[in-house]
Amino acid sequence: MQILISGMRIFDGHDMIEAPRAVLIEDGRIAAIDVPASFEGFAGTVLDAAGDDLTLMPGMIDCHVHLTLGAEADPGTAQGKLSDAALALKALERAQKTLKAGIVAIRDCGGHNYVDIDVRDALNAGTFQGPEMRACGRMICMTGGHGNRSGIIADGRDEVIRAVRANIHKRADVIKLMATGGVMTPGVNPEDAHYTEAELAAGVAEAERFHRTTASHAQGAEGILNAVRAGVTSIEHGIFMNDECLREMLERGTFLVPTLSAVANILKNRDNGIPAFIIEKSERVYERHIRAFAMFYQAGGRIAMGTDAGTPFNQHGENPQELALMVEAGMRPLDALIAATSTAADLLRLEDHGRIEAGAIADLLIVEGNPAEDIAAAADPANHRLLLRRGQPAGASARPVIAL
Ligand SMILES: [Zn+2]
Repeated sequence: MQILISGMRIFDGHDMIEAPRAVLIEDGRIAAIDVPASFEGFAGTVLDAAGDDLTLMPGMIDCHVHLTLGAEADPGTAQGKLSDAALALKALERAQKTLKAGIVAIRDCGGHNYVDIDVRDALNAGTFQGPEMRACGRMICMTGGHGNRSGIIADGRDEVIRAVRANIHKRADVIKLMATGGVMTPGVNPEDAHYTEAELAAGVAEAERFHRTTASHAQGAEGILNAVRAGVTSIEHGIFMNDECLREMLERGTFLVPTLSAVANILKNRDNGIPAFIIEKSERVYERHIRAFAMFYQAGGRIAMGTDAGTPFNQHGENPQELALMVEAGMRPLDALIAATSTAADLLRLEDHGRIEAGAIADLLIVEGNPAEDIAAAADPANHRLLLRRGQPAGASARPVIAL
């Protein structure tokens, strides 16, 4: 099937193009992008929205979700009551909700009993409709450390290496290493470093030997620094980042995945049954987190969009809210769009995602309005008008642009 989309402004993953362009889609990929005149005589399906205030953009990418967590007040406990089979069905349903919100690719940053790996395979094979998926398998954490409910507990360099190999054996795409305490585990402090730099470096080196990227949950400054010096690909959260962390991240090109949605949704729902220790720690980190995000952004750091969807009241399918939170914290709307498309694709090594160019996958979103002026056009799914996944309509809209 060939579709020609024309008559709307285009965000191509890097810039907003106001001059008229048309995009030709063929066999699920973008065949060409050019001035409309060059497609004269085209005989296939034409989606021409001249006169409407619409923007064509790449589908968005969320670099930090947990499909095996359901955004309940206490998601870890809810997860523990489900069989692996039930969890797989839930994860699939959540992935599909995510897609409907305009998110065409996700990275699961820590699953449960490798359920995430099977869900990934089913999604990526196209057996079920959903986003393209990358999965971490089980996160790797120290004895007594953050993430011990679902993670592999490993102490010392040799055990960390063994845990990395166990994930690779289960075909994880990414290796997740817990560098500090966190909000969601009782009895640990987000400020405290957990793994030493030597343990993290051993894990990163082993992951790299097998061509895997690494993600490190890192909130306290000492732990962020340990992870960055160990060479991790992305710092998740980055709450207590200081000048030294910032300098080393910029030097090495380390990505930051901020996940502002996680703490924001906990604080918005503090009266809705969330365990007290989670609320107390969220209050403790909230302002510092926003400041870390702003300082990294202003210094020109590489920011990839991620939400931590699955944490309390941080719903799968509300992922685009992260763009609005990043803008509220001082990011230009155009940069939020870049973080959610081309930069996120670079982090996930999905080179044919996150941009509108010849050869890229036709995972495309048409939104009402100009998201570079008002981020709500992209951040609020009510403004989404059409979603294409591999060139096929995939998203319901109350006001579809065209019936394809
Ligand atoms: Zn997470």
